[in-house]
Amino acid sequence: RDKAQNFTFQTEVNRMMKLIINSLYRNKEIFLRELISNASDALDKIRLLSLTDRNVLDANPDLSIRIKADPERRLLHIIDSGVGMTRADLVNNLGTIAKSGTADFLSKMQDTEKSDNQEMNDMIGQFGVGFYSAFLVADKVTVVSKHNDDAQQVWESDANSFSVAEDPRGPTLKRGTHITLHLKEEAADYLQSDTIRSLVKKYSQFINFPIHLWASSTRSVEEADDDDADADAADADDDAKVEDAAEEKPEKKKTEKTVWDWELMNDNKPIWTRKPSEVSDDEYTQFYRSLTKDEAPPLAKSHFVAEGEVTFRALLFVPRVQPADSFNRYGTKTDRIKLYVRRVFITDEFNDLMPAYLAFMQGIVDSDDLPLNVSRETLQQHKLIKIIKKKLVRKALDMLKKIPDDEYQHFWKEYSTNIKLGVMEDPSNRSRLAKLLRFHSSASPDMTFLADYVARMKPNQNHIYYIAGSSRADVEKSPFAERLVRRGYEVLYLTEAVDEYCLSSLPEYDGKKFQNIAKEIFDLDESEGEKERVEAQKKEFEPLLKWLGDKLGAFITRAAVSRRLARSPAALAATAFGWTGNMERLAMSNAH
Ligand code: ADP
Ligand code: MG
Repeated sequence: RDKAQNFTFQTEVNRMMKLIINSLYRNKEIFLRELISNASDALDKIRLLSLTDRNVLDANPDLSIRIKADPERRLLHIIDSGVGMTRADLVNNLGTIAKSGTADFLSKMQDTEKSDNQEMNDMIGQFGVGFYSAFLVADKVTVVSKHNDDAQQVWESDANSFSVAEDPRGPTLKRGTHITLHLKEEAADYLQSDTIRSLVKKYSQFINFPIHLWASSTRSVEEADDDDADADAADADDDAKVEDAAEEKPEKKKTEKTVWDWELMNDNKPIWTRKPSEVSDDEYTQFYRSLTKDEAPPLAKSHFVAEGEVTFRALLFVPRVQPADSFNRYGTKTDRIKLYVRRVFITDEFNDLMPAYLAFMQGIVDSDDLPLNVSRETLQQHKLIKIIKKKLVRKALDMLKKIPDDEYQHFWKEYSTNIKLGVMEDPSNRSRLAKLLRFHSSASPDMTFLADYVARMKPNQNHIYYIAGSSRADVEKSPFAERLVRRGYEVLYLTEAVDEYCLSSLPEYDGKKFQNIAKEIFDLDESEGEKERVEAQKKEFEPLLKWLGDKLGAFITRAAVSRRLARSPAALAATAFGWTGNMERLAMSNAH
């Protein structure tokens, strides 16, 4: 028998624990969500392993989570039959912070330490605080774990240091992890069945493994006269209690019994396998919350089955607020999509299911057509993944198209840059993306879709006119726009840095080409008579143009008669292939 080995926690772990205790004291209940989520991860892992190696489930084919309270000793047990942890795993996983993201998070939290508590709570809540949240409610935690490759181990800690030893009792678990929380006095409420049920419903109802609670229920049983019918009581080693409340009945005895048994607390049929018509909005929102830990309901959702070259189910969500790190990791890790194959969770680390500009999409994809018994790398190369991605993007864009007007304003404020980058980066969906674009316009103080612009175009107008600048007020004053606007033409005002680049990569909309009115050659869609009048003017002003050309030769390409001015006597325009003033302004500010 080996002696317990003692360890100190890595410094980061101590910081993490302090942070959790200080910021989540009003929200202690999330410990259960975290421990159930770890159990579920461990079950996912062993199930994934079993796809390529059947034998790994031999010790225990059952995949489930069990919760049991022991009020007398103020203990709460959370038991899973997942992958388990070896001794080395226990030391590493429950003694250090392995993930680099967590370290980043910690330093970020340190910065916000003094800022308001709500913000901190939100951040920590979204992040998922993990195993150490157990110490919100427990002053001692015992983790017994049996991994296929090691003898059963016991990890124990009072939050100051921890010990690990081989379990002197030998194997009590076939496989998996049994966590025992020695609850603090004030946390005794978490021993109540009702409290546990409501927390599981609140945070863990969408876990894809059965979660059982050791609980009592009252059943009425008809039985023969003899009094030995306690057969349905639970295992002898469990604290089974059977309380009789016999009623006298003439022939048979009708008995009310309090029976202790494992009660299933969740509906572990994945929500995406249900018919959309049978899932309520509230259920979608709850699922979204459990998926993202986002408190706000999603801005949009789409639940569909795609058929054809590949069949898959998907559930996609747009978060109300763009995830904070979206642009930091632009193009690096682009996925927030979880991939399932035949209900088995495979990975949320593919980079291939959404393009960078849609990295904010959250959701799941589940396909029966992908192979299960291959490595993740092989799966990632699979030809169907490309097809799934293509369809996902189309469906995602459809979903955005369907956002109602009042919500779209909010969407646009949050995600306009993503859509504009999409226009630049995704040629195959360019026309779909163009339908989502909105710009300021001379037609109204509100922003306009291009389709609405086109609908308002004058009968003789063939181009969509636009001008770019740093603000609406700035471009409204532009001499380039004034005559057009005065003559009843609509001009789009491009006021974001990315706008002009975005439109330069969009050759046309609905058959109408774009015309940057800050550029020299544009053919104002006008009548024959008008053109003749201009020709006459050109002749008349030839001497003036020549004189201007001589005087300003070092600064301009040429001087020309303009048809676009109303009140201003002259304007500086860019040549058709030159940079506009706005592009130069942006290039200059980028260089600095
Ligand atoms: P995270 O779940 O985000 O990785 P946690 O702090 O929740 O972080 O857990 C730390 C690690 O401890 C997990 O990554 C996992 O390796 C291990 N672990 C925790 N609980 C279990 C469990 N029930 N079964 C197996 N491993 C677990
Ligand atoms: Mg976790």
